[in-house]
Amino acid sequence: MVEKGMLIVLSGPSGVGKGTVRKAMLREGSLNHFKYSVSMTTREKRPGEQDGVDYFFRTRAQFEEQIAQGGMLEYAQYVDNYYGTPLKYVQETLDSGWDVFLEIEVNGAMQVRQKMPDGVFIFLTPPDLKSLRHRITGRGSEDQATIDKRMAKAREEIKMMSNYDYAVVNDQVPRAVARINQIVQSEHLRVPRV
Ligand code: 5GP
Repeated sequence: MVEKGMLIVLSGPSGVGKGTVRKAMLREGSLNHFKYSVSMTTREKRPGEQDGVDYFFRTRAQFEEQIAQGGMLEYAQYVDNYYGTPLKYVQETLDSGWDVFLEIEVNGAMQVRQKMPDGVFIFLTPPDLKSLRHRITGRGSEDQATIDKRMAKAREEIKMMSNYDYAVVNDQVPRAVARINQIVQSEHLRVPRV
């Protein structure tokens, strides 16, 4: 029988650089044996984003249909949009022995923690809140009201850090990636609890 893969959950406030860290981790194929679970969302596509790669971009009706059918591992409303993790892909990939990497916000992560307590929960933090605002503003894709909403949300999210197993500071992307890789490797060496 194939040994089941490990679920790795990465959260952190919007703008902390989770997407950048995730992409850098996916590029380091040799170090990792994991697959990224593409989320579903109702938000608008940003320039350069691709359906099926960055997200499955869906209407509210389509998203709610997935929820009704029990097709989501978790989902949350985040700044007026739905975001969620399709269940089937996660289950099948873990069953085939691959680790699965989720990049999701805190409410969703807490739902996953209830359902899959063996997962490894990592919180990516900014060095400070000023640098976070700078990053959100610098992305240039959101208006002021949305930026303020995202900052308020970020403050709330940072308070949730104590619900995670690990905190990783994203001061520099390669360093954050190295820290996450260390965590994943150590977790694979953990002696199973009996
Ligand atoms: P963004 O709009 O910046 O791509 O994402 C907004 C927030 O939604 C980020 O914190 C991101 O990690 C989170 N997110 C992305 N996919 C999911 C998901 O499948 N479930 C949940 N709960 N949050 C998600």
